[in-house]
Amino acid sequence: MDRIERDVVVIGAGACGLTAATQLRRSGASVIVLEARDRVGGRLRNDDSSGALLELGGQWVSPDQTALKGAIEELGLETFSRYRDGDSVYIGPDGVSHRFTGDIFPASPETQAEIERMIAVLDGLTAEIDPDRPWAHPRARELDGITWRAFLEQLSDDAEARSNVAMFTAEAMLTKPAHAFSALQSLLMAASAGSFSHLVDADFILDKRVVGGLQQVPLRLAAALGDDVLLSRPVRRITWSADGAVVEADGDLVVEARQVVLAVPPNLYDRIDYVPTLPLRRHVLHQHLSLGLVIKIHAVYEEPFWREDGLSGTAFSPYLSVHEAYDNSNHGDPRGILVGFASDARADRLLALEPDERREAILDDLARYYGERAKHPTIYVESDWGSEEWTRGAYAASFDMGGLERFGADVRTPVGPIHWASSDIAGAGYQHVDGAIRMGHWVADQVLAALAP
Ligand code: FAD
Repeated sequence: MDRIERDVVVIGAGACGLTAATQLRRSGASVIVLEARDRVGGRLRNDDSSGALLELGGQWVSPDQTALKGAIEELGLETFSRYRDGDSVYIGPDGVSHRFTGDIFPASPETQAEIERMIAVLDGLTAEIDPDRPWAHPRARELDGITWRAFLEQLSDDAEARSNVAMFTAEAMLTKPAHAFSALQSLLMAASAGSFSHLVDADFILDKRVVGGLQQVPLRLAAALGDDVLLSRPVRRITWSADGAVVEADGDLVVEARQVVLAVPPNLYDRIDYVPTLPLRRHVLHQHLSLGLVIKIHAVYEEPFWREDGLSGTAFSPYLSVHEAYDNSNHGDPRGILVGFASDARADRLLALEPDERREAILDDLARYYGERAKHPTIYVESDWGSEEWTRGAYAASFDMGGLERFGADVRTPVGPIHWASSDIAGAGYQHVDGAIRMGHWVADQVLAALAP
């Protein structure tokens, strides 16, 4: 058996855990990071095994994500802009494809006006929500007791406007159906990104990418931590008391530490045994947080053929399985790359198909956006993350109905020496890498305060 002693053990080598470990070490604490996978980065993953560099997990950076931008700059990484010149495509309920520019989908003038009115109302409400304390809003209980779908039904009689507005937080962000989460959860999503309008504006929310892929952030953080990051060490048990913890991981490894940072998605908290068991409220709370489901699809072509046709590559339809798609061509690579997303119940239906049928169904959707050439990529890759043992969904966790108002205030409260942190429980940057990094800094501050004599 290997026995290690440290001030702090960090469980999970995603962007959050590695940020926390880096700050703790810089502040003079001794740290070890235990990672279940045989790689670092968690939900960030560069993969070039298909013959093209594809970012299978998180990739985009938006202008307000200052914590992530700070990390990118500090690590000496370069960014580039997503290609966005030309017309976007929208496919409406009649199945007809329309070209448009700007943010508002080209529905009838009445529906367009209704979408704009709804967004203005949602921006007003979002401005009242503190992303770190959404449960403190005076209407929190009411807003957490109504589904996002029902809330929008109260807001508008226009079904097409509702489908479009619902999509920005349902399919596109929480990756759950609009009847499965509350209006408060949706407003938290918007508040964490600065406004509801930001989620509507693809040029804002999907602004930049990192040259060589965003996984370089955790890769570089881990390289600097060196031997203090151990891979293929899933943590199985934490024996804890007020004085510290003994953490057991695969490979007969035991770490004794004064403080623990559990930087894993909340749906995985209960894969670890706690001795003694966690307090009742944590047991109950954990059961109210779950990840959504989305398939991220990459299709690579000899050239970005859609650009010749005056298309930007940006495409939306709440009525297709692939509800959104973008030009995802790499910096310095002449090949054209499209990325598409299929969420929630649409992902269920696609994943029930045989791989060949699924590929055909997805490429059919891409062809409806970009024309027949989209059916013939040279490389085609799907990533669903639901199949990954150490994630089990995507993009991140959200509460069930009523859970945010009931349990939100307790989600970051430590239990003895155990501190919880990940993008899933962030305020600003919630669900995003920016939130993971913010939580990494926040939890490091908490742990340093706990270590102080
Ligand atoms: P994770 O990255 O999940 O890290 C947790 C780590 O803990 C993992 O490495 C895991 O293996 C490890 N672990 C789990 N259990 C144990 C255990 N018992 N013992 C040891 N280790 C354990 N965000 C953006 O900002 N922009 C985007 O464009 C974007 N797109 C996305 C697309 C996809 C398909 C996905 C999946 C996510 C996307 N995200 C995006 C979200 C973003 O990637 C995540 O929010 C962020 O990377 C989470 O970081 P984290 O450190 O909090 O958690």
